[in-house]
Amino acid sequence: MILKHFKELQEFLSQPKNIVIIGHRNPDGDAVGSTLGLKHYFDKKGHTTQVLMPNEYPDFLHWIPGSDTVKRFDRQNTQSIKALAKSDIVFLLDFNALHRVGTDVQNTLEKYENDFALIDHHQQPDDFKYMYSDTTMSSTCQMVYNFIVMMGDNDLIDKNIATCLYTGIMTDTGSFRFRSTTSTTHRIIADLIDKGAENDRIHSNVHDANSYSRLLLLGQALSNMKVLPEYKTAFITLTEEEKKRFNFEKGDTEGVVNYALSLKGIVFAAIFIEDVEQGIIKMSLRSKGKFSVNQFARNYFNGGGHDNAAGGKSLESMEDTIATFKSLLPKYQKELEVSYEA
Ligand code: 5GP
Ligand code: MN
Repeated sequence: MILKHFKELQEFLSQPKNIVIIGHRNPDGDAVGSTLGLKHYFDKKGHTTQVLMPNEYPDFLHWIPGSDTVKRFDRQNTQSIKALAKSDIVFLLDFNALHRVGTDVQNTLEKYENDFALIDHHQQPDDFKYMYSDTTMSSTCQMVYNFIVMMGDNDLIDKNIATCLYTGIMTDTGSFRFRSTTSTTHRIIADLIDKGAENDRIHSNVHDANSYSRLLLLGQALSNMKVLPEYKTAFITLTEEEKKRFNFEKGDTEGVVNYALSLKGIVFAAIFIEDVEQGIIKMSLRSKGKFSVNQFARNYFNGGGHDNAAGGKSLESMEDTIATFKSLLPKYQKELEVSYEA
């Protein structure tokens, strides 16, 4: 755990400030929940706060309280740059390094003259003036909860804040099932319910928001699934053509990789998604047990993340990407064999 210059930050925030909060590119539930949760808290403390996101996020996160105040750097570029220009500090949430916001935002942030404060649970964070980094945490939302408690303000957590933080903890823990879910996570969740988070509604808003075409896309993805039992590995592919055929929308492929991991005996799962616009194959990697997909993504696919959930990309064609992926597996056969032994 790294907690850097917290007292100084607390002192800095004792006067009303102009604050910008930024989440990572392709924001997920934890990015949206943590940035908005922190925003509601800062607003209550008398600060002026603007949440910026590099690009769009899925529809099933748009109901989160405060979502209508978020500005998108790609769409509302002038307003976003103005917000940064008049800010006293920028909070970086749910990412560990500036390149995770995408080239445009990164270039802008690199010219930023005031200080950054990082709150994040990803491995190997870059160095910033103020830091609260803890890779043992289930989610950045759990850390925002801790941050508010460290500020001495647990009592200020209201229904809006509780709803935002509950959402991100829920999505980043796969609904409280991943290893990162501790008894402390559950105690925090209990406190958030006491403070007004309506757990049944939050689950439903996020998980029962499928469109018909999304389920058909899922059907296609599942029928594309390949299993490599000798490596306890399963992977899924989705081409641009398939995405188009099923009216792909942002977020439609979220969680699909978990179906591959749900196969009995599988400890390593991947999904490869063609993105013609960016000219890449985007991949999501998941594992069970000791096999680190973070390391695998860092070593071979320009990515990273956590031990059991990571992402990366390839500039090769789908075919070549799959060939590369398969060619790497023999090296890990032993590791995969024992990754998740009871
Ligand atoms: P997902 O597969 O759900 O997109 O991402 C899983 C985890 O890996 C998340 O914590 C996410 O932040 C991280 N991640 C996904 N893609 C990348 C990437 O290209 N680079 C890095 N460093 N992390 C990634
Ligand atoms: Mn997260």
